[in-house]
Amino acid sequence: MRILATDLDRTLLPNGKWDADESAITMFNELTEKHGTVVVYVTGRNLDLTEKAIKQYGVRYPDYLCGDVGTTIRRYENGDWHDDPGWVAHVNQSSPRWDANAIRNVVAEVDGIRQQEPEHLNPFKQSYYVDHGKKDAVLEQVDGRVKGKFDEVIVYSFDSQDGKGLLDFLPDSATKQTALEYVAAASGVPKGEVVFCGDSGNDIFPLTAGFLGVLVRNADEQLVENVRAAMQRNPELKAYFASGNFQGLSGYYTSGVIEGAYHYGVFA
Ligand SMILES: [Mg+2]
Repeated sequence: MRILATDLDRTLLPNGKWDADESAITMFNELTEKHGTVVVYVTGRNLDLTEKAIKQYGVRYPDYLCGDVGTTIRRYENGDWHDDPGWVAHVNQSSPRWDANAIRNVVAEVDGIRQQEPEHLNPFKQSYYVDHGKKDAVLEQVDGRVKGKFDEVIVYSFDSQDGKGLLDFLPDSATKQTALEYVAAASGVPKGEVVFCGDSGNDIFPLTAGFLGVLVRNADEQLVENVRAAMQRNPELKAYFASGNFQGLSGYYTSGVIEGAYHYGVFA
């Protein structure tokens, strides 16, 4: 059994500035169905926004959703979502110093950040909008107050769609990478048989963690460079860079996911 895991925005979902192949989403749905592929969405979206994406773009329901940047895990079965029974305990045990309230208090005075709306926060996700022009000063202040004190990771990303800087504090055991590791272990699938597809920012972690990586053709240049550099440091890492000209597909978004899945034999 192979797992096909993918980021949503601008990886599986064609919501960037490049043209998408019209047939690609139907192909993705049919191929994964036909081959009984275990499909995992690994996304910054919460459950509500994931449901919206499924309806808006017509992508299939996944078997697992690692949502909220990997801080929540749900299984989709018999037409309904089910919280993973062991996940919360696993994170609490693995990141014992994690404390979202304490982080909120220590960053309260940092200039240039604004706490995100309640639907984007959860007990494992303390998130802010950042004035992107003040990014360096913000990160310096944040590092001084938070770094290394709460078993946390600090993830900064830039949403090129609306020009917003996004700052997430997460437990170091609840990220896109570790959530996917947890799903793979729970499914009894070795990491080296899990394909992960991404396009930007925080996808760097799962793309350099020992999964079979795929970068869609529209991946950020910065991400491509970072993954190539990681591959030079560690020749064991595997990543495939979708380039199009595959079965008449362009390599962008969904088409790149399909191309990468074929490359690793997911649909063999
Ligand atoms: Mg993305």
